[in-house]
Parts: sequence; C-alpha cells; structure tokens
Amino acid sequence: MGYADKSVTLHFDMSSGWTGCQVIEKVKNADFTEEAAALRDTSCKLTMWDCHDECRYHCMWRMVNVFNENGYNLPKFHGKWPFKRIMCLQEPTSVFASFLNLASTMYMHKEIWMRFRVSEAPMVPFWHIFIMVCEVAWVWSMIFHARDTLLTEFMDYSLALAMVMMLFISAVVRLLHEHRLLRVVLVLPLVSYYVAHVVYLHEGHFDYDYNMKVNVFFGVSAGLLWSGWCWYQYRRGLSYPWRLLLFCVWSGSALTLELVDGPPLLGWDTHALWHLTTAPLPLLFYKFVIDDVKHLQVKQKEREIKTL
Ligand SMILES: [Zn+2]
Repeated sequence: MGYADKSVTLHFDMSSGWTGCQVIEKVKNADFTEEAAALRDTSCKLTMWDCHDECRYHCMWRMVNVFNENGYNLPKFHGKWPFKRIMCLQEPTSVFASFLNLASTMYMHKEIWMRFRVSEAPMVPFWHIFIMVCEVAWVWSMIFHARDTLLTEFMDYSLALAMVMMLFISAVVRLLHEHRLLRVVLVLPLVSYYVAHVVYLHEGHFDYDYNMKVNVFFGVSAGLLWSGWCWYQYRRGLSYPWRLLLFCVWSGSALTLELVDGPPLLGWDTHALWHLTTAPLPLLFYKFVIDDVKHLQVKQKEREIKTL
C-alpha cells in the first residue's frame, strides 16, 4: 500500500494504493450500466456524478477505512479531507456555511439599495460592484463545495481572490477618496495583477500554497490598512468605524482556522468552520459602509454650503 510512515498520509492521493483502488473500481464499473445509473438518486443526477466520480468517491472511503483500521492519520485526497456526501453534496457543511455568507451579504445589499440612490451617494456605485463580486463569489463557493470539478475549482479560487483583492482595493479607494488620480494609479496595477493571477489559475496544475499565500497577503494587508484607517479616524474623534475595526479583528482571527487546516469533526473541518465564522461579517462590514456613506454625505453637504 505504500503508507508505512504516518507522515506520508498527506500525500497519499499520489500513492499507488489510491491509484490502484481507482483502477479496480473502474474495472468493476467498466460497464456502469443504465440500471446502475438509475440506482443513483435524483440529487446525484442533478449534481452530475458520473462513473469516474462514483469510483473516486467509493475508493476514497475504502482507503479511509483501511487507514482507520490500521490507526493511521486521516488522509487527504487531492488536497481535501474526505466527507460523507449528503444529497450528493460533497462538502455539505461548507455548502451550508457558504450559503449563510451569501444570505447575509444579500440582506445587506438590499439594505444599501433601499437607503441610498446610486447616482447621489458617495462611493455607493463602488460598493454595489464590491457586493456583487462577493455575492457571485459565495454562489461559486457553494457550487465548488457541492461538486469539486476543474471548472468549479477555478471559479471558486478566482472569485475568492477577487473578493479578497476587492477588500484591499476598497481600502485604497476609501483612503484616497479625495485623490482620484492617485486612486486610479494604484488600483490599475492591482487589477492587472488579478487578471494575471486568474490566467495562471486557468492554466491548471497551479501551486496551491502559492495561491493561498497570495490570498493571505492581500487579506492581511487589507485588514492592516483598514485597521490603521480606523485608528486614524478614532484619533480625529470619529468612533463610527468601530464595526470595521471589529470586522478586521474578527476576520483576522477567523483566518487562523483556514491556516490550521484541521480534519473534519462531525462533518465540520476547519475550512467549513472558517466559512461559518465569516457568515456574520457582512453585517458588520456593510453597516460600517452605511455609516461611512452617511458621513461622506454630510461632508459633501458641508463643502457645498461653503462654496455657496
Ligand atoms: Zn471554501
């Protein structure tokens, strides 16, 4: 089987045992007949599990059982922990947690739509684009965790980075609210870098660690930039960005769950828990956005009165 040392378990999907099991399953299911296909329930058909996927799924659980029986650490398969599928959703807890993030984002999007006219309130057009990127990202996160394919992985990874980089860009745009040219000069290279990274992800066989480092870099940088701005506002006597500061501390703490990368317990691995802990964050962040737009509106009116 090739797993004498427990330290090799993380790379087990590359071992001959896993490949051999898949070959055996494929031979057994070589004629995955219509009758066998009919045994799959509707949700499996809807989520498009084919013979190859079925083989991989059943092989995975055979290997997990072998590992458990021999007292070895739980292995990962193609970089992911094994999960019992529910209604043919591969990672049901991550799907559920992604849905909660989407729901809280959509709820706050509605609040912003109802409160401000797009053409009149400062920064509101930007925030609508920002929120729509987040909504699309959470939809693809649900799809990816429901069914892991090359396409869904690419979409999830590309949009997750879009969401993180938008948070960084939002800090740049807000901090330089009064300096339009400098804003454009700084945002353009960021957008170019994002496009280049998406092309890199699209080429396939990308370095997962490198991709994670890029996400962490922009996420942490955005948190530091926003936190520094909160501190500056506090020193100026403005306390309304407290929700933003809490958002930065909360999201930074939650990130440790993603970095720990622990195995599942009762169906929840640290990645699913990370998604769960980020679900209330849109409520904090967009309530800050509402306060900030109101603040900018007051400043705009004061400027207009002065120029009269
Ligand atoms: Zn995820």
